[in-house]
Amino acid sequence: MSDNGFFGDYGGRYVAEVLRRPLERLEEEFSRAMDDPDFLSDLEAFSRDYIGRPTPLLPARNASAVIGGADIYVKLEGLANTGAHKINNAAGQALLAKRMGKTRIIAETGAGQHGVAVAAACARLGLECVVYMGEEDIRRQHPNVYWMELFGAELRPVSSGTRILKDAVNAALRDWASSWEDTHYLLGSALGPTPFPDMVREFQSVIGRETKEQLGELTPDVMVACVGGGSNAIGFFEPYLEDAHPILIGAEAGGRGPGAGNNAARMTGDGKVGVVQGYKSRFLTDSDGQVLPTHSISAGLDYAGIGPQLAHLGESGRIRFVSVRDDEALDALKFFAREEGLIFAMESAHAGAAAIVMARDLGPGKTVVVNMSGRGDKDIFITAAALDGAAWRTFLYDESIREDEI
Ligand SMILES: *Cc1c(COP(=O)(O)O)cnc(C)c1O
Repeated sequence: MSDNGFFGDYGGRYVAEVLRRPLERLEEEFSRAMDDPDFLSDLEAFSRDYIGRPTPLLPARNASAVIGGADIYVKLEGLANTGAHKINNAAGQALLAKRMGKTRIIAETGAGQHGVAVAAACARLGLECVVYMGEEDIRRQHPNVYWMELFGAELRPVSSGTRILKDAVNAALRDWASSWEDTHYLLGSALGPTPFPDMVREFQSVIGRETKEQLGELTPDVMVACVGGGSNAIGFFEPYLEDAHPILIGAEAGGRGPGAGNNAARMTGDGKVGVVQGYKSRFLTDSDGQVLPTHSISAGLDYAGIGPQLAHLGESGRIRFVSVRDDEALDALKFFAREEGLIFAMESAHAGAAAIVMARDLGPGKTVVVNMSGRGDKDIFITAAALDGAAWRTFLYDESIREDEI
């Protein structure tokens, strides 16, 4: 837990006066809910019946044998309903909102993965759902727009700024400032103002708790997760944060390589301390403190900031950060597909690539556990274009001019 909202120097609640009350209320209600056996049993039932928890922990024996190194285990978070870990947080917060008597949920989304998880949870729980999304992101992420609307969510295009995720966050905060009496703002990663980093970590810690139980007597030597905002990583690592072992590794997007605009390497690259959108952490910013553009082949890792607890644990040395380039992540995607029949999400493939390196370095007799935060079906427009080139483009072209109706 944070110390009064802070993790070392990072975290806090740097928000306009109008947002203080709703954040304080949320903090109180969250801590009350986590002590309420009825709430916890509702969350557990939802996780079992709807999300499909527990997700499996797969011993990746073929991969380990081919590498000739440590035993690799893969936590298959991609088998959670809707395809990734994001539903754990969406479900937890949506149930909390219901408990607080809210009838309406708002959310921001960048690539659309969080928006899809929120829209799904709201459909299931009978809550009104409004998702703010930058116009540029809407243009790039049509499949997720389609799913959100199928779930009955209202999509609100954001045309301010550069029309991407940060602009969607601003729009959602503006909405919340005047609507919070009946509306919950369901933030998507372990960042933002207090209490979101603590709350999102707690709702994602189910990944780590299950993994620890599934490992039984086995103590892992290394655990690896990819880090966008940081929610799957902090949830996966949570049961081990207070211990000296195992080694915890966060894989961030190395993109095309070093240099501003080529990556999202906040911890291994040029991240600077700053306060952005309500919290203090490390961000990729220019000398005026303006957030810089980022790049990653994975839509979920190209965020300019990182959750405050991860930034703190990175500096204290408890978590080690590595950066994984686009091409290395694609290689890991191919490797796990061929050796294990798994399709990693491009985000998760960054963790997969780091796990391969660690398994090789550690050698036989050791254990590496990697979180497959999501499955890669959603990435077919990116991975097939990269790996299958002309044939994929021909298919898309033929589909686009097809005239017969279904
Ligand atoms: C959104 C997303 C991420 C990155 O978000 P975190 O908050 O860092 O976990 C990673 N993997 C998948 C599959 C995602 O959808």
